[in-house]
Amino acid sequence: MLPVLPRCITPGCSNPARASLVGYGGFGRTCEACRQRGIRNGDPRQQRLLKSDVAPYVHRVEKLIQLTGSKERVEIALKDIYRILAEVARDPAARAVVRRLRHLEGSKPWVVRWKVQATNEILRVVQDTDAVQSGILVAAVFLLQSKQPHRFISPLAFQYQLTRVWRARTFLSVGSYWDNQRGKVTRIYRELPRRSTEIIAEYLTVSYAKFVRFILEANRKQVEGLVPFISPLTS
Ligand SMILES: [Zn+2]
Repeated sequence: MLPVLPRCITPGCSNPARASLVGYGGFGRTCEACRQRGIRNGDPRQQRLLKSDVAPYVHRVEKLIQLTGSKERVEIALKDIYRILAEVARDPAARAVVRRLRHLEGSKPWVVRWKVQATNEILRVVQDTDAVQSGILVAAVFLLQSKQPHRFISPLAFQYQLTRVWRARTFLSVGSYWDNQRGKVTRIYRELPRRSTEIIAEYLTVSYAKFVRFILEANRKQVEGLVPFISPLTS
């Protein structure tokens, strides 16, 4: 009789579990495909957010900023957030503070490596992208979450999409290779270790918390008719 091989634990997946030296009985909990999707999206079942999914919310956030008549103030605030984000990412003491008041001292070496990788990535993106557009994008992802919570399998999966969408604003998060079959340069998303992705999401969530609240509140008031939706072009 053949031994019963363990199956992937992802609901709806019937693949055999992948071989793993550290897993129980020589097997991991999921199949290789699910493991890869988990690294990319925080959960194998999480669908990737596309640019076209977020675009209407970006538009909406821009509209809300116009409506509240706070364009200038918002731009100043978003530039400030980017400046502070860069400062914090550069400062080893401060980055430990953001991580729930835990300090780097006493951390395991790989924990430090994740943090360093996360903060390096933050710096790269901050230096390569526009503060205002990035801030609007972050708020748009949160607005999407509030409108369509079912799009996210779990809070963790949301974190991955947030980081991913934010990083995708720069080609720095993308690697490229020559695809012989298609005869052209093909871009692939450069994956970060899971913990680094989560750390970046935490930075973004903390940094933009106030701005996100402002946008969600403006959205609520507008939906409830407390603020008339007047086009700034006609008023
Ligand atoms: Zn699977």
